Amino acid sequence: MTSPLFVAKPVLPKLEDFIPYLEEIWRSEVLTNNGPFHQKLEQALESYLGAPCAMLFNNGTIALLVALKMLDLPPGSEVITTPLTFAATAHSITWNGLKPVFADVDPETLTIDPKAVEKAITAKTSAILAVHVYGTVCDTVKLQDIANRNGIRLIYDAAHVFGTTISGVPIGTFGDVSVFSFHATKLFNTFEGGLITTQSAIDKDRVYFLRNFGIKNEEEVVDIGINGKMNEMQAAIGLLNLQLVNRERAIRAELRRDYNNILHNVAGIRTPKEQSGVSNSEQYYHIVIDPVVFSRSRDDIYKELKQAGIFSRKYFHPICTDFSPYKGNVIHSAYEEPYVETVKTRVLCLPFHSGVTEDHLKLIDQVFNRR
Ligand SMILES: *Cc1c(COP(=O)(O)O)cnc(C)c1O
Repeated sequence: MTSPLFVAKPVLPKLEDFIPYLEEIWRSEVLTNNGPFHQKLEQALESYLGAPCAMLFNNGTIALLVALKMLDLPPGSEVITTPLTFAATAHSITWNGLKPVFADVDPETLTIDPKAVEKAITAKTSAILAVHVYGTVCDTVKLQDIANRNGIRLIYDAAHVFGTTISGVPIGTFGDVSVFSFHATKLFNTFEGGLITTQSAIDKDRVYFLRNFGIKNEEEVVDIGINGKMNEMQAAIGLLNLQLVNRERAIRAELRRDYNNILHNVAGIRTPKEQSGVSNSEQYYHIVIDPVVFSRSRDDIYKELKQAGIFSRKYFHPICTDFSPYKGNVIHSAYEEPYVETVKTRVLCLPFHSGVTEDHLKLIDQVFNRR
């Protein structure tokens, strides 16, 4: 019997490598507030991600809240986003006193469909919040064009694309602002954590104040800030995990090839499409199951895998418009029936990390190919 296998497994440094960092924290008694490890990690990420402005946060959701806040969007205005995402994406819009407006996904990439975005635009639209979902990048060219033509802002939820580049251009430099998550389930983790990146170092001051209550100095509070600060323990983990990220990504790239080999000839199973010029973050491996052609449904496969001790996840089902706060919201679409309503019953994320063994792959092969 193999041990249970989950969809994610956190990258962790050796405990003995963490101890010297703890000793340093105990010695210095600097626990938080832009401490030395925090500054070191911020610099390291700025260079790793190739973003002129890279600012750490205590989690990705607070970073999303601040990313929207820094754009000073008119109160009550509409922000167009995808329903196929984690709850935090839509919630960050609502928490800013803005209105999420949902647009369908592109059937090919499952990222927000620019044609649906066009349909969702009204006189009240102030921004687009797009998500590079599962590691697939959005149509950045079309979305930027829509934003420019309509005089609206463009924000990216980049939680799934740590380290991705498009034709060599770092993903964190597209649009007005991008947000990463360093939650335990993400490729690069700091236990909990997040990051805002923009293409200009000029944004650093504004993000700095918004992250720290708007405090400029002992005498002045200049902005309506929040407490978004990452602490020194998280930053120390980040410094250690950043050294492990390339190796983990390489192992997952290998696993991607193994999954493709198992699944690419199975009728009714769609494997993730490679995007030309895009370096893959290797965050998730998602498949789309056509229940008619494959003759078993996504939910059937989910259950069969579970019986074999393999815990896949139906990300992101239910979709945001199924959540009670957003129920009844329309999904603008280029099609008669939004494609996201179909795909939410078909998409499945398989365990994707360095803990997946040959034995696990055999079990997964047996479930899909009924050998
Ligand atoms: C993980 C994630 C976030 C942010 O999550 P935190 O747990 O707050 O760091 C935001 N959006 C998406 C799409 C995510 O997967």
